[in-house]
Amino acid sequence: MLGTFFGAIADDFTGASDLAAMLARAGVPVTLRVGLPEANAPGTPFEVIALKIRTVPPEDAVAEARAALRWLRAKGAQRVFWKYCSTFDSTPRGNIGTVADALMSDLQVDATIHCPAFPENGRRVFMGKLFVGEEPLDESPMKHHPLTPMRDADLRRLLSPQVGRPTGLVPFPVVRAGPKAVRDALAKLSGHVVVDAVEDGDLRVIAEACRDMRLICGGSAIAAPLPALWRAAGVMDAASAEPLPVPRPGRLVLSGSCSAMTRAQVGAYLDAGASGYRLEPEELARGGLAEARAWLAQQDPDADKILFATAPPNAVAAAQEALGPARAGALVEDALAKLAADAVRAGIGRIVVAGGETSGAVIRALGTDRLRIGPEIAPGVPWCFTGDGVAVALKSGNFGGPDFFTHAFEMLDAGGSVAAQ
Ligand code: ADP
Repeated sequence: MLGTFFGAIADDFTGASDLAAMLARAGVPVTLRVGLPEANAPGTPFEVIALKIRTVPPEDAVAEARAALRWLRAKGAQRVFWKYCSTFDSTPRGNIGTVADALMSDLQVDATIHCPAFPENGRRVFMGKLFVGEEPLDESPMKHHPLTPMRDADLRRLLSPQVGRPTGLVPFPVVRAGPKAVRDALAKLSGHVVVDAVEDGDLRVIAEACRDMRLICGGSAIAAPLPALWRAAGVMDAASAEPLPVPRPGRLVLSGSCSAMTRAQVGAYLDAGASGYRLEPEELARGGLAEARAWLAQQDPDADKILFATAPPNAVAAAQEALGPARAGALVEDALAKLAADAVRAGIGRIVVAGGETSGAVIRALGTDRLRIGPEIAPGVPWCFTGDGVAVALKSGNFGGPDFFTHAFEMLDAGGSVAAQ
């Protein structure tokens, strides 16, 4: 296949890699772009562009999304996907509806669907209301989110102030009646149409009904059934994947996440025999990085090892008290990013990073603008490959099981699952 068939625009980095992992799970080769690609970068069949526009001013979000859409269309994209969080993270000004509206105008479509449901993670939409587990969105912990507190669960009511078009609903009984019923209902609606989905089977019905839409908006789960449908309908060639590079040897874990699951993962990795170096923000403020760099330089490149700032809440609170939360966080992120660059320069080819913000800092320091997606280590966390053949896994705080780090490296050592992608 020449050029790009599918192009997604994601409002943040971990959301982009979640979508990329879903598509890779469906057996297609996926390219993840870190920010807007260079104009002359060649397009690949499945492109996911990671922007950082969830909480920027709506005008800026629209401008960046439009630039990404221009790039995707220049590469030939026939299907466009606007990827946002399955908890519909937005404010009355946007940016979910605002960006969707702009993409509709540029693509000259008068209807799109909104499908944030992600049943595997407990996000379901029923009669237009979004549930997180058993709670409506506005009664879930999302009501306290520091940047996008969600105070309503009704997706049409959330969208209305963000858009300049009507909103509509394809309700659950219609979805359960099958793809034809959904198509018939959509034919009577225009603007932003919320579609109910409670189980994965509902997503398959919706995907079948909407597989010819030029713009689909939603979470990552609605994208999962699409590649097989496009293949079956003959609109997409069997996309041939260039084989993924065999990653260089050498391994390192860098952890800047303090979430409960990451704390358990760091503990389990050390218990399993990895050597560890603890970074402390106050120590970094006083003495800089020299000691950590020296420690890393002395390690066997192939041995299990971890540099971590991961700490329990009382230690984090103490560092934040002494330095301020922003400075404490920045010191750790900057340190881990520099150590990642050191490690790659020293020939280490396999790096696992824990922490969403930490991952962003590390990826910027590695200077890579394109990642190819490999096997999925845990739901939503794939191995990614840089152009130089460095394998990186970027894990946000609560993802993965306790033995995630060991499991991630074993997967590459096994080799089979890499070749299979
Ligand atoms: P998560 O995905 O778990 O939210 P992030 O990397 O997004 O992880 O966020 C963790 C933040 O906490 C980062 O900014 C990191 O630099 C900061 N941090 C890590 N360790 C410490 C610590 N010991 N004290 C204070 N802040 C820390």
